[in-house]
Amino acid sequence: MKIITTYLMFIIISFVFFIGCSSDKQKWYRGNTHAHTVICGHADSTPEFVTAWYHSHGYNFLILSEHNHFIDPDTVKKPTELDNEFILIPGEEVTGKKIIHTTAMNINKIVDWKSESENKTDIIQYHVDGTIEAGGQAILNHPNYKYAVGASDIIDVENLYMFELYNGHPKVNNEGDENHLSTEEIWDSLLTAGMKIYGVASDDAHHFHTIDSAHSNPGRGWVMVNALELTPAAITNAMTDGKFYASSGVFLEELTVTSDYIKIIIDEVKTTEQISKENMNGRSSTDSTNEFSLEFIGDGGKIIKTINSSSATYNFDKSQKYIRAKIIVRRNNRFGAIEEFYAWTQPVFFDGR
Ligand SMILES: [Zn+2]
Ligand SMILES: [Zn+2]
Repeated sequence: MKIITTYLMFIIISFVFFIGCSSDKQKWYRGNTHAHTVICGHADSTPEFVTAWYHSHGYNFLILSEHNHFIDPDTVKKPTELDNEFILIPGEEVTGKKIIHTTAMNINKIVDWKSESENKTDIIQYHVDGTIEAGGQAILNHPNYKYAVGASDIIDVENLYMFELYNGHPKVNNEGDENHLSTEEIWDSLLTAGMKIYGVASDDAHHFHTIDSAHSNPGRGWVMVNALELTPAAITNAMTDGKFYASSGVFLEELTVTSDYIKIIIDEVKTTEQISKENMNGRSSTDSTNEFSLEFIGDGGKIIKTINSSSATYNFDKSQKYIRAKIIVRRNNRFGAIEEFYAWTQPVFFDGR
């Protein structure tokens, strides 16, 4: 991977800045945290096929996140022709009451899903606690699937640092509707209320053999993680610290984040190649003027600044509690409509979080 390796994360503790630099060894790793196999009974490929698909499509890591079933990576035969670094991170999709699903990432045993409570916050907390007890970290999945989970259900959950901002399954309602917030609006609501929670994009892939917009195909949502090494622990820790971006089609050539500014350069070649693939579903757009937009978003989800360019450096407005960037790439699809694809950087906090 030739993506720029400079990524400066900062942490504010008691109003004191601690700025840490990434070393030359730090790299960007592409991964999918959510995929299913024939083991669940409603997906079309074996663990070996799914693993080989991600490996052959340039990914570096994958979680085989089966419903209430722990797939031990040691039992999955991996491709012998390993031309790029690739690992399986052990995981499970904890599939509980009230349609609450949680990816248990980097666990060492199965996580129980049978919480006693009927309260949604309690159920999410049960998944999170069980995941941490199994040595991992939790990602709350597809909150808008059947509109099961709202911001008020999430805000009081402790030790939850990630949720699915984008899920590639066609039935998960990422965009919300007239009565429900989009997942991005849920995120801004949580961030504005003081939660430290990062946005993940994943495939939730089920169908590797029927490719169309009605099926849950691989390759639509992924994360790009900035980590010291490609191990389950290093990737999980980096994501829990927010050292990644989420994508529904956009690759970045550079992402540099310091305590003062964020610098973004879109990788136009890789992005064009990716969003031209038949499995890619964009969000419909009315902007026929700008191919690229970089939005810098603060408290309440308000867009503080828009730069219609494929690259920019933005100096943070530190009067905000947080700032995050949304990278937008538009294209005309084969039906003549304009579609948008995104990358989302993680929020930088200015309120001591
Ligand atoms: Zn699910
Ligand atoms: Zn799933």
